[in-house]
Amino acid sequence: ETADYSLFSTLDTDEVTVFADLILPIPVPRLFTYRVPRGMADLLRIGARVIVPFGKKNSRVLTAIVAKLHNSPPTAYQARYISEVLDEYPLVTGYQLELFRWMAEYYMCTIGEVMNIALPSGLKISSQSKVQYNPDFDYPELLTDFEAVLLAELKKQPALSYDELGRLAGEGTNVPALIKSLVGKQAVIVFEEVKEKYIPKMVRKIRLHRNYEEREQLLVLLQRLEKLPKQQEVVMRYLSHVPMQRSPELNQKGLDKTILNQDDELSQSSLATLVKNQVFETFEVIQPRFADAHVPQAEIRLTEYQQRASDDIMAQFESRNVVLLHGITGSGKTEVYINLIQQALSGGSQVLYLLPEIALTTQIVVRLQRVFGDKMGIYHSKFSDNERVEVWKGVISGRYQFVVGVRSSVFLPFDNLGLLIVDEEHETSYKQHDPAPRYHARDVAIMLAHWQQAKVLLGSATPALETYYQAKQGRYGLVELFNRFGNATLPDIRLVDTKREKQQKSMKQEFSSVLLESLGQNMERREQSILFQNRRGYSPYMQCEDCDWTAECDNCAVSLTYHQRDAELRCHYCGHKEQVPRTCPACGSTKVKTIGFGTEKLEDQLQIFFPDSKILRMDLDTTRAKNAYQQIIQEFETGGIDILVGTQMITKGLDFDNVSLVGIFDADRLIRFPDFRATERSFQMLTQVSGRAGRRAGRQGTVLIQTANPQQSILQRIIQNDYIGLYEEEIQERQNFNYPPFSRLIKLTIRHTDKRISQQAADRLAAELTDALGSSRVLGPEEPLIERIRNQFLYDILIKLERDKVNVKAVKAFIQERINDILTDKGLRQVSIVADVDCL
Ligand code: ADP
Ligand code: ZN
Ligand code: ZN
Repeated sequence: ETADYSLFSTLDTDEVTVFADLILPIPVPRLFTYRVPRGMADLLRIGARVIVPFGKKNSRVLTAIVAKLHNSPPTAYQARYISEVLDEYPLVTGYQLELFRWMAEYYMCTIGEVMNIALPSGLKISSQSKVQYNPDFDYPELLTDFEAVLLAELKKQPALSYDELGRLAGEGTNVPALIKSLVGKQAVIVFEEVKEKYIPKMVRKIRLHRNYEEREQLLVLLQRLEKLPKQQEVVMRYLSHVPMQRSPELNQKGLDKTILNQDDELSQSSLATLVKNQVFETFEVIQPRFADAHVPQAEIRLTEYQQRASDDIMAQFESRNVVLLHGITGSGKTEVYINLIQQALSGGSQVLYLLPEIALTTQIVVRLQRVFGDKMGIYHSKFSDNERVEVWKGVISGRYQFVVGVRSSVFLPFDNLGLLIVDEEHETSYKQHDPAPRYHARDVAIMLAHWQQAKVLLGSATPALETYYQAKQGRYGLVELFNRFGNATLPDIRLVDTKREKQQKSMKQEFSSVLLESLGQNMERREQSILFQNRRGYSPYMQCEDCDWTAECDNCAVSLTYHQRDAELRCHYCGHKEQVPRTCPACGSTKVKTIGFGTEKLEDQLQIFFPDSKILRMDLDTTRAKNAYQQIIQEFETGGIDILVGTQMITKGLDFDNVSLVGIFDADRLIRFPDFRATERSFQMLTQVSGRAGRRAGRQGTVLIQTANPQQSILQRIIQNDYIGLYEEEIQERQNFNYPPFSRLIKLTIRHTDKRISQQAADRLAAELTDALGSSRVLGPEEPLIERIRNQFLYDILIKLERDKVNVKAVKAFIQERINDILTDKGLRQVSIVADVDCL
């Protein structure tokens, strides 16, 4: 009989055979049943990882997660044995298994795909374990003939992955069994290859021996040292840094040894004596990853407005699970978050603070670390696998009650969340596009909170329309913070009419005279400027003046971007690179010119206009290295830099004291983008980048937006910081055309290398869906803006489902069924169909 065993339960297995239903990290929409070897059943827990053979002839090895234990053999196939148990305790909590199931269903993917993304690869051993011939191997007589032949081969090879070994051994080999046997005979060594090893830096510290922690003992000690003034001096100096008279537990944290004997040699030898006499003891701790992490607990004093916002949020949490903090840029939302995090932690619950990818690498983390020190875990995609595994395990062990992280930190094994914060909740980088699950971290956070009875705080200066709508409907609480910290004011935003400047011939290349003048003045005042152009490279097009030929990607339907510094043409979709042609490949003309401009070109031109200025550029091309982003920020803060040119990277969460001018290029292109969210997006992006200016009291900042069409109403809204006006106008549009939040969207993308097959599949799917759902709910198929990427021809079908009128779950199941049907059609081989739920 099937039995569902709860977490931590094990089976008494002497009589019955035990089976485990496992989640495998593959895109097959079901669990897999394996046999649990005798003796292993006692060890096995739900949520633990195991290693299993997989594939037609056991040719693959996978790490799997135990989802269920029971006694019924599968009917459709012969169950294979689990090879190994990796965890004594669950690595994945019951809440996570629930999350995996929900995500698979909601986002229309498989539970294995969810698991694959959820676990850092350091926890999926099969991809990293390697096998190597053991040079000390001494017992050839133990080997079977087959093993002997294989080992002779292996001896000539470098370390092999399990998969590679499987290939070497030939089809039909049970790789895990083979490895087990070889390891048992000590013929091979299995090890985990770690790409980037995290070797913690240790700091040597010193503290008083436990015996002297009590006040009386300490006094006795000091008295005893009366006759040894140098030693007494050292102890006194220690106490001046570690005021343990007030709280003895401070002693346990100790003091950096170097602080104590910095200034003189004498104290060094006295200290050595004191250590020898066991008055002091030395110990080592891991140095936190961010440099100034050891700064002691900083006191945060909220301003009156911030305190009121914080109280208001707590009050609204009484009746709401989600509260939106709508606070203008520079209002000090982070301070409010810190206050709430402290309250939640002191109540004993876990806290997760989500930040967009880019914001997390910088200033905010340093600020948080001043308050929370090494109690705070950081989960970031630029960290190595080891570091991520460490945070994962730290959450399980209780070392990290508080984690600040990017979208994937919603997968961490929390089981006692009290508060989740989603900072800059409107940010598009919370949405994962590829691979599946195509989830939105804000929405997942709200589900997590629901299961764990936690509260969610969404924060933004420019909330997503969907979020603000929920607040207006009363489903979310709403708290507003409309003052900048320290009496700083919002910047003065002005439009620069580039059409007029062109007529007056006062434009110099991409720069209006107004902008150039302001830049010059700003530099004279030794204040800094930020220039925003959401396009990287030198110029997005290269064209022949004589025959209109343009450089295009061989694999995609896009033009190639000219990158001057590396002197090449690049596709931003597939990475394809080409040399820059000297003459037109079509007509041989030498008049090949570039059209349009990216950040690289702006940087170039600036250097000509202001030869003495120091300019930095921040975009994808300059921030590929692990710490590049941080370095640029630091240099901008301290290196006497005049101008920072960048793409949307510079819009996110940066907080510089000395920036008083922001220039925005090509605003019209953002606004015109053909998408129903373009107006909202432009408002968000332009408001956020404007918000980098004038963040300190004193002089008001200035923002100059270059546009050929200053009349556009969205620009007026931006100037007036009129979010509410924008909201009301946009929400009306959304209602009229039945877009979110009034409907739910599911986008289906059909791909194939043969355009006809792609179209055929798309037509059929659209027809079947239209039949069932009605033509008003199914749009397309339609070629997307870029109809070919990586030699795959694309078609989109958009499904719009009204809220509250449609059983979305049933519709999703139906869509999936139709998709599966097409995928198994022999005529439509190798078509790929991707579903994106709530596509953004
Ligand atoms: P937001 O995220 O709302 O744009 P920040 O949280 O970055 O704003 O705050 C803006 C600046 O004001 C930061 O430099 C922050 O350190 C400072 N600040 C805000 N509130 C306080 C406070 N209560 N005490 C000291 N500094 C504050
Ligand atoms: Zn030509
Ligand atoms: Zn391409």
